[in-house]
Amino acid sequence: MSIEKFNTLELQLEILSGCAFSCEGCHVDRNSVNKTTDEMYRVAYEFINELDPFSVVIGSTDIFTATNSLSVLNDIRLTSLICRFDRLVVNSTMAKLDLNVLKAIQRLGMKEVQINVVIPENKNRNVRYNEVISEKIDEVKRLFPGLVVHPQLNLSENLTVDNYEELNNFYLHHYGQGVDFNMSFARTSRNPKYYRDVFRWMRDVTSTTGASKNGSMVNQHIDVVSPHDSLERAVIFYEGGFYQIPIVYEDLIQARPKYRFNDYRDYQKRYDELIVEQYNYASLTDECVDCNFLPTCTDHRVLSVMEDYGIKECILPKETIAKVNRW
Ligand code: SF4
Repeated sequence: MSIEKFNTLELQLEILSGCAFSCEGCHVDRNSVNKTTDEMYRVAYEFINELDPFSVVIGSTDIFTATNSLSVLNDIRLTSLICRFDRLVVNSTMAKLDLNVLKAIQRLGMKEVQINVVIPENKNRNVRYNEVISEKIDEVKRLFPGLVVHPQLNLSENLTVDNYEELNNFYLHHYGQGVDFNMSFARTSRNPKYYRDVFRWMRDVTSTTGASKNGSMVNQHIDVVSPHDSLERAVIFYEGGFYQIPIVYEDLIQARPKYRFNDYRDYQKRYDELIVEQYNYASLTDECVDCNFLPTCTDHRVLSVMEDYGIKECILPKETIAKVNRW
């Protein structure tokens, strides 16, 4: 086993097209035509050979209403790739199920299936809506008893949440899992001020709630600090090419040339270059250069994102990170 096998791989494949919904807060190009290519398979298998394939995401639109879900899930070449992973992750509002799609997923025989349940922004904390969705999840759990459910609230410019703990408890109650945030705005928004405001808000809510608990992050999601995510290498096949995924609270999907790579070797090279670029940027920030978490942050391209948007202040809840990591 090579040393890299200690790192797990999350491979995101954006190969679904179409969606029956237009959820508030969603910035995904729902009508794009997404196709697998020979090059995609070649690079995907390179990664599988070098890293420990843990989760594969088939996205980005709703798995039950995308126009090509069944052809994707029944494609022998593609399913052979998917089956190399332990966990299959799909996205859905769960507002409309398709039994044929569920059966196709079942035929894959994955160790784990995760559904990211997309909550439109205008349905946030809507009791009736979320009750109906959790009933649908119960239906799916009859086929998949070990189903992993992650509620994901679409985050957009209109969302103001002043009590994160209350928000998190609402989703814990309905889904048995704390809330993630769907930052699809990263695909389209190029407004630096918006990013600064969102990251400041996330830092403030997570530092008040995370630090108030006894160090446990079980019901709270900050991917950048969890032990599993610190070993994860996340890459995406997106708009016909491969990109590294910066992780700042959640995956930030951006088609910036600096995150693009051609193959595994090129990925390693770009990975190292980005580390150096971030250490250079650290000296221009308010406090990164002396921070104990600098290696973790550069590993997740946090400072790359800060540089992308000219952010100099720390965007992470340092007290919470310290508590979780027992510093
Ligand atoms: S935790 Fe904050 S200050 Fe420390 S390196 Fe990360 S972004 Fe910079």
